[in-house]
Amino acid sequence: ARMLADVETLQGDPWELCPRSLLKDFLSRLAARGLQIQAAFENEFTLSDQTETGWEPVDQLNCFSSAAMDLASPFILPLIDALEQQGIKVEKYYPEAGPGQQEIPIRHQAGLLAADQQVVFKETVRGVALAHGYRVSFMPKISPAFAGNGCHIHFSLWDEGRNLFYDPAGEFNLSGTARHFMGGILKHLPALMALTAPTTNSYRRFVERCWSSSYTCWGPDNREASVRAASGYQGQEAATVNLEYRPCDPTCNPYLALSGLICAGLDGIENELDPGDPVLTDPALLSAEERRALNMNAYPTDLESALSALEQNSVLLSGFGENRITDYLTMKRAEISMLDSLGDEGERQAYEFRF
Ligand code: GLU
Ligand code: MG
Repeated sequence: ARMLADVETLQGDPWELCPRSLLKDFLSRLAARGLQIQAAFENEFTLSDQTETGWEPVDQLNCFSSAAMDLASPFILPLIDALEQQGIKVEKYYPEAGPGQQEIPIRHQAGLLAADQQVVFKETVRGVALAHGYRVSFMPKISPAFAGNGCHIHFSLWDEGRNLFYDPAGEFNLSGTARHFMGGILKHLPALMALTAPTTNSYRRFVERCWSSSYTCWGPDNREASVRAASGYQGQEAATVNLEYRPCDPTCNPYLALSGLICAGLDGIENELDPGDPVLTDPALLSAEERRALNMNAYPTDLESALSALEQNSVLLSGFGENRITDYLTMKRAEISMLDSLGDEGERQAYEFRF
């Protein structure tokens, strides 16, 4: 059994740094404009079992391999049951590109429930793994040789059952609202990444041509873009067109990550920000000059750079409140200095089975 709760003071007042209350606050700001958000966190993780030499990924097979599916099935089948028993709808399952890497996209839900589901999802994955003799890691980049574990956030804005990101007349079926929201996200990257890629290890994941995205840009179904405008399902476009934010990994606090997205997106909507031209190709194929012309910047290479960007971002500072950001920066900087002395292997030990 589990219970998700807001954090209150001993007097029963809302605690000013409670992440879940912050998200509720951002959802109210959306609601004040007649908007609701639907979202889904799309986790990847690495499944390992015990061998004579220690915990090793359960397979070294190809991406989407059905043989890898067979190997993972003693864990995946009870996992799906456990998720569904808790009301989480599993939409797909497939073994991903990395050794032992798994992906289970789940059904989107309204704002708070989407973030709650992310907590339940990770707890359930870990619990079912332990119960069946496996271990899982949500570490963003376990090894430079492995595909990273991402946690893309799919989302769309709704009003009374109408998907406001969809416009049949818009380029790639996208509405002005969707474009402005993206404009806000791109403007506030990399500050936003301090919340969505919040560990030192997160920055090892952003490698060209690994589908993690590594430059600020957007594009239709572009898996190397910060925001992928995801095509709707054929014939159901009005209900399924959505945006996918990719520089997020499963070490994020989902309440802070979703709050950050809403904060940046609202700034985009309020100021009608333009996301710029879509990128229709792999940014790694463009020259540095071509990337500059498209206003594309390389992501920060470490957590401290993203934290500094957050520290200087007036929209996130005022949206989250200065105390909350100051506290977050203090915690994250303490984490950086603790890990500094431990080296690469120490970082792996600190993160591999912790999240
Ligand atoms: N593993 C990739 C990442 O690090 C994502 C692969 C995919 O598109 O699902 O984000
Ligand atoms: Mg994937």
